[in-house]
Amino acid sequence: CTLATATAAATGGYLKYKDPKQPLGARIRDLMNRMTLQEKIGQMVQIERTVATPQVMKNYFIGSVLSGGGSVPSPKAKPETWVNMVNEIQKASLSTRLGIPMIYGIDAVHGHNNVYGATIFPHNVGLGVTRDPKLLKRIGAATALEVRATGIPYAFAPCIAVCRDPRWGRCYESYSEDYRIVQQMTEIIPGLQGDLPTKRRGVPFVGGKSKVAACAKHFVGDGGTVRGIDENNTVIDRNGLFGIHMPGYYNAVNKGVATVMVSYSAWNGLRMHANKELVTGFLKNKLKFRGFVISDWQGIDRITNPPHLNYSASVYAGISAGIDMIMVPYNYTEFIDEINSQIKKKLIPMSRIDDAVKRILRVKFTMGLFEEPLADLSFANQLGSKEHRELAREAVRKSLVLLKNGKKKGDKPLLPLPKKTGKILVAGGHADNLGYQCGGWTITWQGLNGNDLTVGTTILAAVKNTVAPTTQVVYNENPDANFVKSGKFDYAIVVVGEPPYAEMFGDSTNLTISEPGPSTIGNVCGSVKCVVVVVSGRPVVMQPYVSKIDALVAAWLPGTECQGVADALFGDYGFTGKLARTWFKSVKQLPMNIGDKYYDPLYPFGYGLTTKPNKL
Ligand code: BGC
Repeated sequence: CTLATATAAATGGYLKYKDPKQPLGARIRDLMNRMTLQEKIGQMVQIERTVATPQVMKNYFIGSVLSGGGSVPSPKAKPETWVNMVNEIQKASLSTRLGIPMIYGIDAVHGHNNVYGATIFPHNVGLGVTRDPKLLKRIGAATALEVRATGIPYAFAPCIAVCRDPRWGRCYESYSEDYRIVQQMTEIIPGLQGDLPTKRRGVPFVGGKSKVAACAKHFVGDGGTVRGIDENNTVIDRNGLFGIHMPGYYNAVNKGVATVMVSYSAWNGLRMHANKELVTGFLKNKLKFRGFVISDWQGIDRITNPPHLNYSASVYAGISAGIDMIMVPYNYTEFIDEINSQIKKKLIPMSRIDDAVKRILRVKFTMGLFEEPLADLSFANQLGSKEHRELAREAVRKSLVLLKNGKKKGDKPLLPLPKKTGKILVAGGHADNLGYQCGGWTITWQGLNGNDLTVGTTILAAVKNTVAPTTQVVYNENPDANFVKSGKFDYAIVVVGEPPYAEMFGDSTNLTISEPGPSTIGNVCGSVKCVVVVVSGRPVVMQPYVSKIDALVAAWLPGTECQGVADALFGDYGFTGKLARTWFKSVKQLPMNIGDKYYDPLYPFGYGLTTKPNKL
């Protein structure tokens, strides 16, 4: 404080960089001229909230803090707790000599998913189905408000991976196997950040306190790794990389995305975190991206395999490649010592450090962080608001794909189901499991099992809400054949799928639905008309069951607002979704989409039956 006052006194109290009337470039230059090397290095460091004590923030001039997956101040923390926590950290940054605000970031990848009570939207795999950019923009705007409700100005979203192989555990974070759909869906960026004023095209833009800085990730080729192995090698020629995995970045940069996160994966053997040609040469120089490039979590360490094998060489490679902010996220002194020593040895030139810091400051100035660094509770009532839940419900019903309707060709369609009937059976553990319906990246990194994790409507609850009061709904997680036969049900809704997972924990070689899903289908669908709803992060093996079932619906990972599933099942709305991923018959067919040739799938890309909504 004393130093800041002294600086202010020396300049007659006027600090150009603090003057919002000054042009952006002048503010950045003025501030850069005042910064010491340690202050500059600090801007490049992002640490995890659990180590971000005021002392650490001040001593190392830390530029950014994050919540890793599921890292929350306390379980079920309310907006007030979040805002206080973020402000405490911010106050430490503001009390440094130059008072440069830190920027707090979090993975809000399907709504504000770490936070209890937030609206959880369908994961991207479902949103791609909608092919509705306007809807994505509204979801972006709602997510921004919920993130701001907790005092946070930065979301590590959207993931614009083009998942080419569903065995990848992050397939559900990808909108589609088709880059054109991914490009369309980048409309979530102006939703998160605000509309780009035309004259600022290409430069990072965040339109004020109700918006957040976005992050297009993971640059580039994350969805193209061999056999879908997470963080692995994407083996593809230049045309393939630029033709499939890069196009989303053209849109993201044109829409003013503030930041880009680098992928753990490699392209033809070279780790993206060390790829200067693509990060600096292409993204920064050719595409003219002027926001900042952020590493992934310990991404620099993972340049080597095993990670952290030669940290000096990795830091050199990562910084030289053009990474501006390093998600360290714990061993910040090790990183700071290393970068200092490399600057001293003139391995890393000051021009590289200046480039990084300018970009970080540009984003911070652009988004008004210097003017309003502290959060308040003015957005607190946005968290899980009625409007946002309605929007998520709309997104759920538009993300459903009706794959089958009628047992055999020519049979009467089973859907829409009648609301008024005698007795219906709801079966399958996924019907009454909010954690499973939300998937990974919900409250915790890997996701949860059960209904207590947050506030929402399960498919079972939605069915009960929707049927006529005289209709009896019986729920049985895994009924045996006798139970089904003797129950005299008019029809059954069977909900099966995958358990939650995130990143490499979700890599799969068999892509089967989890037990006892297959026997539940067998026990129910043999003796009563049934619709099977699949809750999964990707297409799964359904070929063995398809002939037994009357109707099949892909619900993906719908999130907290499963009333949207009942809306379509019971015909209040029609089914409209079209597959944004090829639905294979067996894993032996994978990967299916090399060279865009889809052969003999169970359901082809773009497939989806429709129903008309019931007349009111
Ligand atoms: C993921 C990123 C995420 C980061 C921070 C990493 O493990 O790959 O997508 O943004 O963690 O939580």
